[in-house]
Amino acid sequence: MNPHDREQSFKEYSKILEGLKSSFFERWKARKDQTASLDHFERLRTLGTGAFGRVMLVRQKKTTTFFAMKILEKAKIVRMKQVEHTLNEKTILQCLKFPFVIFMKYSFKDNSYLYMILPFVRGGEMFSHLRRVGKFNEFQVRFYAAQVALALEYLHYCNLIYRDLKPENILIDANGYLKITDFGFCKMIDGRTWTLCGTPEYLAPEIILSKGYGKAVDWWSFGVLIFEMSAGYPPFYSHEPIRIYEKIVSGKFKYAVHFGEDLKDILKNILQVDLTRRYGNLKNGVMDIKRHPFFQTIDWIQIYNQALEPSYKPECSDAGDTKHFDRYDEEPLEIASTDRFAKEFENF
Ligand code: ATP
Ligand code: MG
Repeated sequence: MNPHDREQSFKEYSKILEGLKSSFFERWKARKDQTASLDHFERLRTLGTGAFGRVMLVRQKKTTTFFAMKILEKAKIVRMKQVEHTLNEKTILQCLKFPFVIFMKYSFKDNSYLYMILPFVRGGEMFSHLRRVGKFNEFQVRFYAAQVALALEYLHYCNLIYRDLKPENILIDANGYLKITDFGFCKMIDGRTWTLCGTPEYLAPEIILSKGYGKAVDWWSFGVLIFEMSAGYPPFYSHEPIRIYEKIVSGKFKYAVHFGEDLKDILKNILQVDLTRRYGNLKNGVMDIKRHPFFQTIDWIQIYNQALEPSYKPECSDAGDTKHFDRYDEEPLEIASTDRFAKEFENF
């Protein structure tokens, strides 16, 4: 693309983004719950587990459509002081609409659990795919990184920080494009916030140092992600979390020998401990990233429209194919006869 067309396309995209933002805030104001109930769904198998519950493949009985059902245990959420985060997750998921971000179709609750019904993303976690192939080539890294950059730009534009970017939370759809899932730490902010959350390897230095922090933490994790996709391992690593933290705040990491010059340059600028120098966080915001030579061949509108043929498409035999997901032990739901936490989850 010549420089003139490129600038035109950036302008065109900023209009698209403006529209996406206003529809996000319209939904935010309206906050309409789409309710359903547990018996509308047939539970098939567990797709993933987390700290407060699990995600299961389910089939809506009436339509036979497959969905992913995120089930969270109220007692565990309360014990781990995550009530606020869970309420954030639901309201935010309800309002999101972006090609590379999951959204929520229905939600409901009972005496013991909270349920969120999400579209089922068939190709599995980027994490599993990355571990299977070892590392991605530069074309693939660019293709995936471009989608994540657009997703972060969208979220930040809607005043959201995501705070949990990592390959386990990025799913690959049957068409080969990404969907970011897990909005458990996502939060609407103006300015700075202080909570410690996220995964050691992907934490930004300012979080570890308990400074107030903002959207720049997502760009830091974005740098960690680009590194890990390219190398097959993260830039700051140790068996002990405390050593990981030391490495992160030192800001020192080694490029893999095969890294190209543009890749090294973008990583150097994003994995910047100094917030006043970190790409994504400077006066031009995301444009420093979009305009970087590493992304020179990317047509951002083509990516947004999912019009570029991906080099990897997960093979899926049918809409409910789960071969890209690991197996987990299944546990029955145990629904109590009384609700001990009705008050805490009143707004869910
Ligand atoms: P937290 O990190 O807040 O504890 P969690 O890790 O329990 O949350 P998620 O990350 O939302 O919950 O989901 C856990 C796993 O379930 C994901 O890593 C993924 O493998 C699977 N999963 C989540 N959402 C979907 C979906 N929409 N389609 C397919 N699989 C999904
Ligand atoms: Mg997760």
